[in-house]
Amino acid sequence: MQLIILGCGAAYPRPGGACSGYLVEERGTKLLVDCGTGVLSNLQQVVALKDVTHIVISHLHADHFLDLIPYRYALSRPMHQTLHPRLYLPPGGAEGLLKAVSAFNTSLTFFSDLFQVEEYDPGAALKVGDLTIEFTSVKHYITSYAMAISGSKRMVYSADSGVCDELAEIAQGADIFLCEASRCEAEDDDWGHLSAGDAGVLARRAKVKRLILTHFWPDCDYSQNIEQAKAAFGKAVEVAEELRTYIL
Ligand SMILES: [Zn+2]
Ligand SMILES: [Zn+2]
Repeated sequence: MQLIILGCGAAYPRPGGACSGYLVEERGTKLLVDCGTGVLSNLQQVVALKDVTHIVISHLHADHFLDLIPYRYALSRPMHQTLHPRLYLPPGGAEGLLKAVSAFNTSLTFFSDLFQVEEYDPGAALKVGDLTIEFTSVKHYITSYAMAISGSKRMVYSADSGVCDELAEIAQGADIFLCEASRCEAEDDDWGHLSAGDAGVLARRAKVKRLILTHFWPDCDYSQNIEQAKAAFGKAVEVAEELRTYIL
């Protein structure tokens, strides 16, 4: 089982980078987790679109889904028209996506003509090829789902989240805890996000094996925050790098 970071930017990408997007692979299953700005470009650097089997979206903030629009156009091209990858959206996501494109599209099948669109049930485990996803609702400005993705190993992705028990619970014993750490000011009031120090505390509480921090504002200096994460976790902390592969 492996993870490739496609994008680790917060609500806007660094020059040449991308917002949230992660490719999780287990045998023939290639699962794209979130698809923010710039992700489609990086995705095609590491895999052919014909090999992407499933896509899952954590929540409907633009930095987590916006590249589904160019992805849809890529699927409309002759060589991709038969692919129909499965696209799993949070409850209400199908209508939300159509609203997002309503300024230029009125077709109710704009996405479902080309993706196999389904809304997941956050209360049930979702089997996606060789992987299984469990969801939990976490603390954020809109409903956001952290995910435990299990195959031969177990990876937990925080999605966007503030400090909450639900995140610590789902992260229990994870081989990799991919955790957002976008708050760069410890004193700010950004309750819907975590600081690196918060992520370190959660990782220690959940007894995870590895902590990878992600979801960074390009304009923030996180060096102090990362030191706080190491101190809180009590172990080495990794910082997500775009296009890097992490073997679980
Ligand atoms: Zn985000
Ligand atoms: Zn968000």
